[in-house]
Amino acid sequence: MDVKINKGILSLTEGDISKQDTAAIVNAANKTLRGGGGGDGAIHRAGGPQILDECIKIGGCETGDAVITTGGQLAAKYVIHTVGPVYRDGLKGEPQLLQNAYNNCLTVASSNGIRSISFPSISTGAYRYPMEDAAEIALQAAVGYLKGHDDIELIRFVLFGAAALKTYEKKLKKLS
Ligand code: ADP
Repeated sequence: MDVKINKGILSLTEGDISKQDTAAIVNAANKTLRGGGGGDGAIHRAGGPQILDECIKIGGCETGDAVITTGGQLAAKYVIHTVGPVYRDGLKGEPQLLQNAYNNCLTVASSNGIRSISFPSISTGAYRYPMEDAAEIALQAAVGYLKGHDDIELIRFVLFGAAALKTYEKKLKKLS
């Protein structure tokens, strides 16, 4: 599903984040930036050791922040690493932190001249954020960015599995 918003496209697709050909892909990392499971593991496996070397030099990332490395052997030129919140009950600042993660990725992308970016569904794996709530925050951040800026031409969400894609599609139909 593709939606035009201002000058840009917001796209929802099912697939593997590590295989995307946008200028940047986003890694839902952990604070150590030393790699992990899920999408994080897939990105480091496909991208090779250079990404991890750069992450180790950066040293770490706070929840809601974002840092950038090259893409190593990936199709994407850059990886933007962000750390989503671990979900507890939704009352510990998780919505704001998840919103910060998306917004900081978009800011880092913009300041590096990146015009196309793919996101996974941050925090909805090992960090257990409920998919419906996470989808709303993710899509609001993307729609808000495209409405307010002209630089990023494509924001793609790469959802893992048909159920996740369906949840995001349902939310986007309500928002746009
Ligand atoms: P987090 O620790 O932020 O929860 P995960 O990587 O564990 O990050 O999961 C985030 C989301 O990404 C989950 O919905 C998970 O199903 C999905 N996911 C896992 N592997 C991939 C992949 N290769 N490409 C895209 N999404 C993925």
